[in-house]
Amino acid sequence: MIIHELTPADCAEVLSRGSVARLACCRMNQPYVVPVSFVYDPRQVCLFSFSAIGKKVEWMRTNPSVCVEVEDFEDRFNWATVVVFGRYDEIGDAPKHQELRQRALHLFSERSRWWLPGAAKLGASEHQNVVVYRIHIDSMTGRRTTRPETT
Ligand SMILES: Cc1cc2nc3c(=O)[nH]c(=O)nc-3n(C[C@H](O)[C@H](O)[C@H](O)COP(=O)(O)OP(=O)(O)OC[C@H]3O[C@@H](n4cnc5c(N)ncnc54)[C@H](O)[C@@H]3O)c2cc1C
Repeated sequence: MIIHELTPADCAEVLSRGSVARLACCRMNQPYVVPVSFVYDPRQVCLFSFSAIGKKVEWMRTNPSVCVEVEDFEDRFNWATVVVFGRYDEIGDAPKHQELRQRALHLFSERSRWWLPGAAKLGASEHQNVVVYRIHIDSMTGRRTTRPETT
């Protein structure tokens, strides 16, 4: 098996097809990784997502530097993965954010039941607040295996 580096265009293609990522943030030398849904916006060069306010949002507000991994995984021999280094940026309700928020909501709405599971209830408790955010992509790398030979 040979593993190849992906070009930036290939990385963008993996992100476009992806919908679930591993989002890693860090506070006081303690990493924290959770799965999240996302949409890639090539126009803004960012990933959009949303979340109820909890640990990851609190941590990313303290330290906006994040790492995100997206994978297109078939099996051990057939996969592509992209690692993004970026910055958390919350998209509030203020008029200055309106265009960006609309863009994010438009992209989310192309997916059915897009608000799940990010805005689902945890047990019996109601979420007070859901935040929309983007991860600015500062840099990214990608790798993939060779496709299996057809015989
Ligand atoms: C396929 C998929 C897609 C998802 N999409 C989104 C999304 O778009 N947006 C979103 O906000 N969330 C999404 N989630 C849920 C997400 O993984 C977190 O569980 C959730 O966001 C709560 O994270 P928090 O940091 O706010 O944790 P809090 O509710 O503050 O809980 C804190 C503690 O709970 C534990 N914990 C939190 N999440 C998990 C977990 N998944 N597994 C095990 N332990 C956990 C941790 O130990 C942490 O210390 C998705 C999950 C899956 C599986």
